[in-house]
Amino acid sequence: MILQNNKEPLLDVQHLKKYFPVTGSLGRLGGIKGQVKAVNDVSFQLFAGETYGLVGESGSGKSTTGRTVLRLTESTDGKVFYNKQNIFELSKREMRSVRKDLQMVFQDPFSSLNPRIRIGHTIEEPLAIHSLADGNERRERVFEMLNKVGMQSEHYYRYPHEFSGGQRQRLGLARALIVNPKIVICDEPVSALDVSIQSQVINLLKQMQTELNLTYLFITHDISVVRHISDRIGVMYLGRLVEEAQTDSLFQSPLHPYTQALFSAVPGRGKNRERIVLKGEIPSPLNPPTGCVFHTRCPHAMEICKVNIPEKREMSPKHYVACHLY
Ligand code: SF4
Repeated sequence: MILQNNKEPLLDVQHLKKYFPVTGSLGRLGGIKGQVKAVNDVSFQLFAGETYGLVGESGSGKSTTGRTVLRLTESTDGKVFYNKQNIFELSKREMRSVRKDLQMVFQDPFSSLNPRIRIGHTIEEPLAIHSLADGNERRERVFEMLNKVGMQSEHYYRYPHEFSGGQRQRLGLARALIVNPKIVICDEPVSALDVSIQSQVINLLKQMQTELNLTYLFITHDISVVRHISDRIGVMYLGRLVEEAQTDSLFQSPLHPYTQALFSAVPGRGKNRERIVLKGEIPSPLNPPTGCVFHTRCPHAMEICKVNIPEKREMSPKHYVACHLY
């Protein structure tokens, strides 16, 4: 088990795989035609109190990673240890108590809130599911949580359509935090918001993390956002984790050619760093390239890259890269 600062990880994801079967026009009757390898052998750890950013283009598998870790979709292979248990082996009943500790905030706050239910009832629902409080106590806890996320007690009685996008994301956060989770998986939580509102929600997330001692897995395609919020970052490309490091180390010296290209597009990266424009589109995960999955777009690709999958190596303390250049 990997240790960081002599601490054991709070969550330990080992060799996670999620493949989706692809069927023909007759559905499953016509047989399975192939598999979309959305997440392919991904391992990382979350340590208590940190924010681990998972970044990559659309289609890199980062959201599927978050959903699979929480068992919102079942994994194809791999293990996820929480409290020394592999949660993929837990029964539905056992998983319910773990789920209280592992919550998720979704990208689109409106779709995660039922439009016909008063917001207070939506937020208190998890308390009922986990039998954590009843009657007046539930309502009091919701009032308290609404105030914590910058809303007011009177908002309890309103419906989702009465709120702005930023307010709805605060409400989505309130619903996730009402059960006192240990880990929150934030899946593109600010992508749908205006830039000015984004920073308010990010500041709220940071404030809640300090107050409630939370650990975040923060999933985003936005390099500036991930830099601002993360202690460590993992970079995903086509279902694989290609580089992982502490935020400062990753931005000072990105090692993987994909990370270098991704970061080169960020404004204010410095005069001497030229923008690296990658050729072609991200390949289909239905038929990913052999060897290094990045070799079809990599400016440094060698013969070995077409054949052998590069292994993850530690290049400096806690800075890992999977690339044959190193
Ligand atoms: Fe490029 Fe080869 Fe490194 Fe892949 S392994 S990133 S193709 S140099």
